[in-house]
Amino acid sequence: MSAAPPVPRMGDGSAYATAQHQFDAAADQLHLDDSLRQILREVKRELVVHFPVEFDDGEFGVFTGFRVQHNIARGPAKGGLRYHPAMTLDDCRALAMFMTWKAALVEIPFGGAKGGVVCDPRAMSESELERMTRRFTTEISLLVGPEKDIPAPDMGTDWRVMAWIMDTISMHAGYSVSASVTGKPTEIGGSAGRYQATGRGLTTVTMQAMRDHGLRVEGASLAVQGFGQVGSQCAELLGALGMSVVAVSDSRGGIYNGTGFDLDALHAHRRGGGRVSDFPGGERITNQELLELNVDVLVPAALESQITMGNVERVRARVIAEGANAPVTPDAETFLTQQGVLIIPDILANAGGLVVSYFEWVQDLQALFWEAGEVNTRLELIMSRSYVMVRDLARERRVSLREAAYQIAVERVAAATKVRGVFP
Ligand code: NAD
Repeated sequence: MSAAPPVPRMGDGSAYATAQHQFDAAADQLHLDDSLRQILREVKRELVVHFPVEFDDGEFGVFTGFRVQHNIARGPAKGGLRYHPAMTLDDCRALAMFMTWKAALVEIPFGGAKGGVVCDPRAMSESELERMTRRFTTEISLLVGPEKDIPAPDMGTDWRVMAWIMDTISMHAGYSVSASVTGKPTEIGGSAGRYQATGRGLTTVTMQAMRDHGLRVEGASLAVQGFGQVGSQCAELLGALGMSVVAVSDSRGGIYNGTGFDLDALHAHRRGGGRVSDFPGGERITNQELLELNVDVLVPAALESQITMGNVERVRARVIAEGANAPVTPDAETFLTQQGVLIIPDILANAGGLVVSYFEWVQDLQALFWEAGEVNTRLELIMSRSYVMVRDLARERRVSLREAAYQIAVERVAAATKVRGVFP
């Protein structure tokens, strides 16, 4: 008899433990019946691939990649691809699950997926990265496609990687399949507004939540962990609302300036190849120190499990808007909530990227493209409406924003799963 799989412990720091804990809490609160609970608690499909890639020096290396689909009851699977040396199958399971809830919460007809390759993209040349991406795409091609599963960028991947994926799928098909990925360059069917979308969505809901809680947005101090697609755009857009960006970081460390950074100069420094931590005009700090700054708003926009029981007592932010998925572990969240910290949960706060990915897919399928203004207006409307729904339920049921968001999302996925029935 085989041993039972390990039961994830609350607060053990893994994203999968957090995902299952958050689902269990919602399932309990919704009195979800046992069979639905069993279906939704597990991922539907997971593909693990090992494949060779030729390096520039003629040697070969074998890479491991994943694609996981959590639930497709509401539509095709959707989710990012991450290139990171510490990527695991459990991370993909957790992130796929978050995507299912996120799509349901913002009422986008997609299911949840995630994938990636265990690699360090910064240590690879552009041609090695391209060969790896094309081979990985071919390996997972039995799962992906515009009606089945649509990848997008995540940590370590960008518009370039999406273009190679789109081209590889198109070469196998023999015609251009632009709806096969989102986050592509606009030249091949990408959407206006996609790069800023996650930051724009986070900005919309953070502003509304702060005003509802009587907190001033203008002049509030802001620290952002991670200065990639999500973090840099959150800094930019929250800064444009009048917040003072006092700290930012990347994987090598951060910088702090109590009077606020000149973001244009920081962007220019980055475009010139400089690292965040080398930017002059700020004091160097570590990523841990950034999380513990005495700021009004903290946006973790890097990795999962950044605020845990190991550091939560030193976290002094009044508002935490989750740009990353699951940056706060459940037991750390309980502690913060008791301290009166306002947490804007990931499945709401960072859903803007998914919303505009959906717009991109719709535009590709229709071959009819929208102006940036239309994309942004529609995005803000969806984010605002979703926030109000979450806020009202949180007030009505006297629960946190996360609990309310999960209750709405899980209930919608459960309803779709139930009405379709169990095959055969
Ligand atoms: P990115 O690769 O563009 O940027 C990631 C940033 O985080 C980089 O600045 C990197 O240096 C930094 N970083 C990496 N490891 C770090 C560490 N240990 N400490 C501090 N900083 C670190 O990735 P992204 O697309 O901005 O995604 C960031 C996070 O947001 C991920 O967790 C991703 O899953 C989540 N997310 C992304 C999107 C999207 O639209 N891209 C949408 C929703 C959620």
